[in-house]
Amino acid sequence: MSMKLMLIILDGMGDRPSEKLGGKTPLEAAQTPNMDFLAKIGISGIMDPIAPGIRAGSDTAHLSILGYDPYEVYTGRGPFEAAGEGLDLKHGDIAFRCNFSTVDEKMNVVDRRAGRIREGTHELAKALDGMEIDGVKVIFKESVEHRAVLVLRGDGLSPKISDADPHDLGPIHKVKALDDSEEAKRTAEIVNEFVKRSYEILKEHPVNLKRMEKGLMPANIVLPRGAGVVPRLESMEKRHNIRAGAIAGVSIVKGVCRLAGMEIIDVKGAKGSADSDFTAKIEAGMDYLKKGDMVLINMKAPDLFGHDGDPEGKKNIIEKIDASMEVLKDALDNTIIAITADHSTPCDVMDHSGDPVPLIIAGKGVRTDDIEVFGERAAAKGGIGRIKGGDLLNILMQLAGLSEKFGA
Ligand code: ZN
Ligand code: ZN
Repeated sequence: MSMKLMLIILDGMGDRPSEKLGGKTPLEAAQTPNMDFLAKIGISGIMDPIAPGIRAGSDTAHLSILGYDPYEVYTGRGPFEAAGEGLDLKHGDIAFRCNFSTVDEKMNVVDRRAGRIREGTHELAKALDGMEIDGVKVIFKESVEHRAVLVLRGDGLSPKISDADPHDLGPIHKVKALDDSEEAKRTAEIVNEFVKRSYEILKEHPVNLKRMEKGLMPANIVLPRGAGVVPRLESMEKRHNIRAGAIAGVSIVKGVCRLAGMEIIDVKGAKGSADSDFTAKIEAGMDYLKKGDMVLINMKAPDLFGHDGDPEGKKNIIEKIDASMEVLKDALDNTIIAITADHSTPCDVMDHSGDPVPLIIAGKGVRTDDIEVFGERAAAKGGIGRIKGGDLLNILMQLAGLSEKFGA
């Protein structure tokens, strides 16, 4: 009889020894009785999310962990953001992340985030969504605050183009082709036209007229960046014959899972932030497994503290997440549980590093080793040894009795 699979990804949890924590990593310094218990009854190891030394992004790491080759399917962040915002994408669509920004009449950016606009972006987005440029359909949707996603749908498009967003104050960038293809040239022209039209439409929009009356920055232009082509990912169901779901607060992880054909489970209180309701996420995951075979749960908070360079905060949030895992003991009878990270975000680096991440796997039938706590240096001595992210799903599927035999 097959078992269920729960894969918990503590985003950016891997770290390096911190002076502020007496030479321990945040995970080592944290009191984590629940994860320690799983380490004790299960097996530990370390994992290179993509390959040794590769500094993985959350998107490329999740792709790798779900068994896809990021070097093959990843051309930019745009498609995953757009899918994470709930847009139905087609293979070949070109997708971008965008900012609502503020420009003066000379097209100089005076505020990249349009005064961190919070209200009215839905109306602004509606004014741009659905337009056509040179036979290409424009799909546009607002995201949180000043962010938005843009999708171009049509023939003869390419993601090999530069950003309109200057990533700084000053003149907006004219989008250029990054190779000699006609497709890239044409796509660059279409995006430049979109940016121009966004200014013409938004500068007069009632939402902006009202903002200016109040002395707020108008969101009078849209600046796309991070172009990528929507890849064709064979769904988890087709590839592994499993029903898989995902719980994540941040759109980029939701987008990867959605493009992999996983069901996105919305959990009230799952916000992708430090005050996210971790218990609600775990419980929703256990609930999903009543019908599904596998669930991936991403908890974003540790990564945020890594980027902030705050080892104390990271240690505290890991403790809080661990406390939410008390209920996992009830699942061990019929579920293989794996806990790991998508990459390391060392507080001393304040960005993702290429260090491997710790991993534990526990459940009925899982071999054990001598490791009794969850931490980077303990895991490095564990029975799993060192694996690549692309191996993880095979290992878990096998333990859950969900994989096919290769050969006779
Ligand atoms: Zn991440
Ligand atoms: Zn990060």
